[in-house]
Amino acid sequence: MRTSIGVEEALETVLSCCRVLDEETADLVGSVGRTLSRAVSAPADVPPFANSAMDGYALGAPGGTEVPFTLRIAGEVAAGAWSSVEIEPGTCVRIMTGAPVPPLTDRVVPVEWTDPSGADHVTIRRMPPAGAHVRPPGQDVRRGEVVLHEGSVIGAGAAGILATLGVGRVFVRRKPIVAVVTTGNELVEPGSGALAPGQIFNSNAYALSAQARHAGADVLGPFHARDDRPSLDRILAQLGAADLIVFSGGVSMGLYDLVHDALKAQGFVAEFWKVRQRPGNPLLFGCLGTIPVLGLPGNPVSSSICFDQYARPAIGALLGRDEVSRTRYAATLSAPFAKPAGLHVFARGVATMDADGRLAVRPTGEQGSNLFTSVLRANCIVHLPEAWDRAEMGQSVDIEWIDW
Ligand code: AMP
Ligand code: MG
Repeated sequence: MRTSIGVEEALETVLSCCRVLDEETADLVGSVGRTLSRAVSAPADVPPFANSAMDGYALGAPGGTEVPFTLRIAGEVAAGAWSSVEIEPGTCVRIMTGAPVPPLTDRVVPVEWTDPSGADHVTIRRMPPAGAHVRPPGQDVRRGEVVLHEGSVIGAGAAGILATLGVGRVFVRRKPIVAVVTTGNELVEPGSGALAPGQIFNSNAYALSAQARHAGADVLGPFHARDDRPSLDRILAQLGAADLIVFSGGVSMGLYDLVHDALKAQGFVAEFWKVRQRPGNPLLFGCLGTIPVLGLPGNPVSSSICFDQYARPAIGALLGRDEVSRTRYAATLSAPFAKPAGLHVFARGVATMDADGRLAVRPTGEQGSNLFTSVLRANCIVHLPEAWDRAEMGQSVDIEWIDW
């Protein structure tokens, strides 16, 4: 087991222990939030036929463009209909938005640029250029084009495109099952009444479960273990179906930090314990058979931030996502941050656009790992590298937006 390793090595180790899960299919509604296990190519052009972008009149190639002039209305075509009327000189076809343009259509004149002239004639007051308001087939997507990549997450845009292509089912990765196990004799279920002296409410069970779901997983549990081996052993026996196990608490140096011992008794092989980071220095990671296990320090900020920085990418790796880490953006510190030397700090920040249009970031306030409002108020995580011994106003840092 390695100890006191750097954050990059820690994340690499976690990811290297995560195998991509099997695929299954999902319908369009059920596919949202899921990860594609196969790329999707367009089976046909979008739009499938040339159609009108306006309500108006389809004209053939005109002899001249001198306005005004009057044309006979030779037919009409609405969305969903099909017209094979050939537009002869001196005639036009009334057309609605989305309707297929008749053969020989050269342009569409919007209705706003015309005046009615009796029941079956129209006067053209203004002429748009050739090709105007005709949407060609394949304008949006060409047949055969790859529109969605393997490993991409299906959001509203992807659901819309899949429907546009007429695709009703897609191949997606099975949802990872993330077991959440909190530990601690001091913890009481919220809503179960008043606290006795020394007790606190179990918040990590809820924050971590929410983070797991937000990251694309299903939650097994949350379970709660007391700080004794029988309690831990009883819960460990129920986690066989998990793809990832996340413990909260019980991984530090305390007398009652028994998670590692209980895991070892089941054959757990530790990869590392302790990472040069704050919050979450005593992070534990290893494998129970093929199941990756993260032991997050129990302080609510530590467990949340470590989940975000290690469990969330692990879920992304299980899902075969093309990107498991978030894009980072450059920002300037608009206030100093506490920066212990020799530790990578995942500070909680509030980033805003400054007067020059650049990102400026300040701390959410006190950054103690027990102060959960620092997570609540943050819109980003600020990376303060291990090598820095201070983080002063004006320094440039990397941030990543958080949306959970
Ligand atoms: P531990 O890592 O078990 O030593 O816990 C560190 C600190 O986090 C202690 O103050 C615990 O009371 C607190 N803590 C541990 N687990 C939870 C939890 N599930 N919810 C809220 N606080 C917790
Ligand atoms: Mg504890």
